[in-house]
Amino acid sequence: MSRVANDCFALPPGVHWTPADEALALLKERMETVVGVEDAPLAQADGRVLAEDILAAHSSPPADNSAVDGYAYVQGSGAEGRYRLLAGRAAAGAPYDGVVTPGAALRIFTGAVLPKGADTVIMQEGVSLEEGYLRFDGGPKTGANVRAAGEDVAAGEIILSAGQVLRPQDVAQAATMGVDRLKLRRRLRVAVLSTGDELAQPGDAPGEGGIFDANRPMLAALAARMGSDVVDLGVASDDPVVVRDALGRGADRADAIIASGGASGGDEDHVSAVLGDAGARTLWRIAIKPGRPLALGVWDGAPVFGLPGNPVAAFVCFLIFARPALMVMAGADWPEPRRLKLPAGFEKRKKGGRREFLRGRIGADGRVEAFRSEGSGLISGLRWAEGLIDLPEAAAEIRHGDPVAFLPFSELGL
Ligand code: AMP
Ligand code: MG
Repeated sequence: MSRVANDCFALPPGVHWTPADEALALLKERMETVVGVEDAPLAQADGRVLAEDILAAHSSPPADNSAVDGYAYVQGSGAEGRYRLLAGRAAAGAPYDGVVTPGAALRIFTGAVLPKGADTVIMQEGVSLEEGYLRFDGGPKTGANVRAAGEDVAAGEIILSAGQVLRPQDVAQAATMGVDRLKLRRRLRVAVLSTGDELAQPGDAPGEGGIFDANRPMLAALAARMGSDVVDLGVASDDPVVVRDALGRGADRADAIIASGGASGGDEDHVSAVLGDAGARTLWRIAIKPGRPLALGVWDGAPVFGLPGNPVAAFVCFLIFARPALMVMAGADWPEPRRLKLPAGFEKRKKGGRREFLRGRIGADGRVEAFRSEGSGLISGLRWAEGLIDLPEAAAEIRHGDPVAFLPFSELGL
């Protein structure tokens, strides 16, 4: 198993607030695939990262065949639209081994190989049958209702590429080529850690000022959605010894660690402090909201993404920064989520120079609405939202109807 470079999160000296796109460009340049390859059955391929290009072993469909139930014939060959019905039939998997001669027609069913001689199929609804003959007026164009060999895929074409995350339709395409085993990336192992003295576990009665840990289940689910195997590191108290121990267990058992809480530079920010003391930290002051600094570091070879504790900030920072980095570690192509340009259904003034992500959704009028509050602790807003409104650094005032970029959650793998 390979590891990322120790300085993969280093920033140029003197940098204070890094624009989000610069931070992403650095990650894109530095992250490397760390997982190996395994040979797996096609039945296990959905949602996994493909580790090889797959070429079409033959064209698909392999032979000209009928798209409908009807009659195969030679275009224009029946005198006055009358065709002599041949004995026999062509069905899917049971081809006709004779020849359809001019003036004759053969009963054919969907998926049957087009018999020799015939060039066109007429649907059964379009003909009238008389003893031993069929008749129709006009009829379809030459080649109608015939699925041509290779019209779907040509032999030798790349049908699936290394680095793509396979979907059910990709599985179907591989199956058309008779693939039953293929090379997949092993699943990335992602360890998830929450930190904070205030965090209670289910079954506990939270003490005064205590809250239940929301981030760990959320981040575990986010990592699992990316196809990772999740290692649960539990909750670490705000104690450097405990945090250090948790990071050690994470580096032992996983390829990457996602921690939340304690990531800024304050006295109670122990993830940040522990990484800093080990000389393994870079505080990424990324100019985004919700955000605050991310504490990034490498602990015993495992990259650590120290995300903010506020659940909305942890969610956004995971999706924007950690997810693409983890995807590359998992062997996938760097994802480039597409944004929709939609008219704003809200108004807002914002600070220039800062990228802002609002919880948004598309209203019945096609405008994108923003959640009623920007509070970064409000998980109800994440629940309400269907994506993130992505406001660029330069924007200062957004008025009703202004075009804004909307990043649907589906573009982020959710
Ligand atoms: P921190 O980043 O540790 O300063 O935490 C910022 C805020 O997020 C505080 O209000 C914490 O109580 C809250 N928080 C931190 N971790 C979690 C968590 N795992 N689940 C829910 N809230 C959290
Ligand atoms: Mg904390």
